[in-house]
Amino acid sequence: MKVDWLIVGAGFTGAVLAERIASQLDQKVLVVEKRNHIGGNAYDYYNEHGVLVHKYGPHIFHTNSKKVRDYLSQFTEWRPYYHRVLASVEGKLVPVPFNLNSLYALFPPKYAERLEEKLICTYGFGVKVPILKMKEAKDEELRFLADYIYKNIFYGYTIKQWELTPEELDPSVTGRVPVYISRDDRYFQDTYQAMPKQGYTAMFGRILSHKNIKVLLNTDYREIVREIRFNRMIYTGPIDVYFDYMHGSLPYRSLRFEFLTFDREWQQEVGTLNYPNEYDFTRTTELKHLTGQRLPWTTLIVEYPQAYQPENINFEPYYPIPREENRLRYSLYEKEAAKLGGSVLFAGRLADYKYYNMDQAVARALKLFEEIAHG
Ligand code: FAD
Ligand code: UDP
Repeated sequence: MKVDWLIVGAGFTGAVLAERIASQLDQKVLVVEKRNHIGGNAYDYYNEHGVLVHKYGPHIFHTNSKKVRDYLSQFTEWRPYYHRVLASVEGKLVPVPFNLNSLYALFPPKYAERLEEKLICTYGFGVKVPILKMKEAKDEELRFLADYIYKNIFYGYTIKQWELTPEELDPSVTGRVPVYISRDDRYFQDTYQAMPKQGYTAMFGRILSHKNIKVLLNTDYREIVREIRFNRMIYTGPIDVYFDYMHGSLPYRSLRFEFLTFDREWQQEVGTLNYPNEYDFTRTTELKHLTGQRLPWTTLIVEYPQAYQPENINFEPYYPIPREENRLRYSLYEKEAAKLGGSVLFAGRLADYKYYNMDQAVARALKLFEEIAHG
C-alpha cells in the first residue's frame, strides 16, 4: 500500500489533520488506530439501555475560538448546552467553580455579604481568581475564605485525581476552575458551548469520510509501519512510547470508569456532581443532561482516578501531569522529534504532552496543517 501520509491515532488531532490533508491538499492518508473505534477519548456509543454514553469520561465541547467552532460545524449540528457542576461540601451541594452563590449557600447571610463586598472590592465583580492566588490575599478574612475553599473544594479532589497537592502541580491545573466573583453558575464561560447533536462518533465519521482517507482500526502502527509506503507521518500517541522510553517514561494519570444505570428518569439535578471530600471517586456525570436524550431511565459515569501502568493494557494514559520535572523530560523528547527533520510530526494531548481540551487539540491540528500546507 502506498499513501502520502500515515497518521497514527483517530482522535481529534489525527482526524482533523487527515481531513485537512485529504480535502485541501488532495493527498492520500492512512489513519491507523489501535482501538476498535474512531474518536479517540471523545468516542461515544449507545449502551445496552440505549443511552448515549462517553466511553472515556464525560466530554463537553466549549471554546472561544470561532475558527474551531466553524471548522467542526462542517461536520455536525450542535445542541446548545451549558454544563453545571455542584460539589458536595459539608452536606450541601454548591456550585463549582466556587462563586458568590456558593458563598451564600455555605455561610450565614451577614457574613457572606461582608465577604462578597471584600471580594468585589479586592478583585472586582466578574473576575476569576485562581485559588492558589487567593490564598495569598492580604486581607485576613479573604485568606480565611481562600483556605476554606482550598480545603473543601480543591485539596481532597486534587489528591484523589493526581495523588499530588495543588502546590505540587503547575498552577494552571487548579487554575482551570478559578473562584469566580459572579452569580454565573456555569462551569465554563466560553462563547461557544454545545454538544454535537448526534454525538461525537457520528461527527468523527463525517470528518473521516473522504475518498482520500482510509482508516485501519484495531492496529498499532508498529505492526504495519514496515509494510506501508508513505512519505510523511503524523503521530498523535504518547511521545515517550514512540521513542521507546529512551529518556524514561513520562508519567500520566489514569481513570477507571464505572457506568451505572438507574430505573428512573433523572438521578442528579445537574450534569456533574463533584465529591472533593468523600468517596474514592471524584465525580459522577449523568449523560442525559449533556446529550439531551429523553428516556425513562438514566446512566451515570463514575470516575475513579488511578495511577497509570504503561505495561498494563487496561490502563489508558488519560492525563499528562503538568509539573516542571515532567516538562523537562518532555523537552528531551521534543529534541528527539526535531532531529527527525519533519519526516514525523508530533501533535496532540499525548504527543505534545499537554493538558489540551478538545478545542485546543483541534486548534493545534489546524495550525499544524497550515504549517504543512505552506511548506
Ligand atoms: P486522543 O483522543 O487521546 O487520541 C489519540 C489516539 O491515538 C487514541 O485513539 C489512541 O488509541 C491512538 N493511538 C495511540 N498510540 C497508538 C499507536 N501506537 N497506534 C495506533 N493508534 C494509537 N476536553 C474538552 O474539551 N471537554 C471535556 O469535557 C473533556 N473531558 C475530558 C474527560 C476526560 C476523562 C479526559 C481523559 C479528557 C477530556 N477532555 C475534554 C480532553 C479530550 O479528551 C482531549 O483534548 C482530546 O481527546 C485530545 O485528542 P487527541 O487526538 O490529541 O488524543
Ligand atoms: N478541581 C478541584 N475540585 C473541583 C474541581 C476541580 O480540586 O471540584 C481541580 C482538580 O485538581 C482538577 C482540576 O481542578 O484536576 C481541573 O479540573 P477540571 O474539571 O478542569 O478537570 P478535567 O475535566 O480535565 O478532569
